Amino acid sequence: MTHRVHNFCAGPCTLPLPVLEEVAHELVEFDNSGMSLIEMSHRSPVYDEVHHNTMSLLRELMHVPDDVSVLLLQGGATLQFAMVPMNTLTPGTTAGYIDSGTWGSKALADASRWGDAYPAWSGAEEGYSRMPETSDLDIRPGSRYLHLTSNETIGGIRMPDFPEVDIPLIGDMSSDFLTRPVPWDRFDLIYGGAQKNLGPAGLAVVFVRDRLIESAPDDLPSYLAYATHAKADSLANTPPMFPIWVMGKVLAWMKEQGGVEAMSTQTAAKARAVYDIIDSGEFYRSPVDPRYRSHTNVVFRLPSPELETEFLAEADKAGMANLKGHRSVGGIRASLYVGLPMDWATDLAEFMSDFRATRG
Ligand SMILES: *Cc1c(COP(=O)(O)O)cnc(C)c1O
Repeated sequence: MTHRVHNFCAGPCTLPLPVLEEVAHELVEFDNSGMSLIEMSHRSPVYDEVHHNTMSLLRELMHVPDDVSVLLLQGGATLQFAMVPMNTLTPGTTAGYIDSGTWGSKALADASRWGDAYPAWSGAEEGYSRMPETSDLDIRPGSRYLHLTSNETIGGIRMPDFPEVDIPLIGDMSSDFLTRPVPWDRFDLIYGGAQKNLGPAGLAVVFVRDRLIESAPDDLPSYLAYATHAKADSLANTPPMFPIWVMGKVLAWMKEQGGVEAMSTQTAAKARAVYDIIDSGEFYRSPVDPRYRSHTNVVFRLPSPELETEFLAEADKAGMANLKGHRSVGGIRASLYVGLPMDWATDLAEFMSDFRATRG
């Protein structure tokens, strides 16, 4: 491919070019089988190998302990907002939720529809400009877990450290999945939609502690019980074969790059290139407290909405797409997920610097 737009979309995301090329090459006929992988039975030995390869790469890259199961599910991160409380909140228990923005508050809303859940902290009054520290949290007796969103994709805020509390953590890591090491001793469950960092839409990845699966109510509809999927290696029903296949390729690419540790360094470096421009003058402004700035979703403002409109139009002409902030907050947002090349981030930084020089 000769021309590739610099796509800063918040999700679905830019994927590594070598992965897309490999998929294109293998799509029509998979491995001399005479058919496409996505036309095959999900019970075939050929698909089975692809499926388990993806699962074992997840375990390897995330250093997943033996008593944690890896599940590949449908319904996105959104279905996990419901499945988490359904599998954990029995009568008499409650759960604390960190309301750190759009996604944290949606998770809390769904948990409250199913069981008893409360905000352990809310950033609403501060305009969601930071994450809480452990000392800010109000954990009530009888709390089964504390739910957090490690990175708020819309607000552009990130938890630099995970809370140190004496109940298990459950984390929505959709938008910084595999860009940071996980302290497994503190987590009972981690989930995310694959389309932000790991692959195409249509797949959610869930890491769940076996004791949580075992203590879940046994009267849930089968798809909604983690046990169904854990027992069947995520082959209880037809799995989303295409995104599982492509995500396996993204994971193999990540491994080649040096795994989560390398992704963490690269992601931070891409974000720094853009924040450095923001901080080097008065023209651009970040609404986020520097300690909590996201590495994957860099949110910023220009001096006026008119200049923001102009910025987006000029960026588009320069081959940089999807920089408009979420409709709920406005401004500009550059999403810099793992598949986005470093030079796209530096090209954006250079474009921002040039734009400022002519309009500032
Ligand atoms: C995008 C996003 C979601 C929703 O994901 P879906 O897979 O579309 O359901 C949830 N949480 C976070 C942090 C997100 O970025």
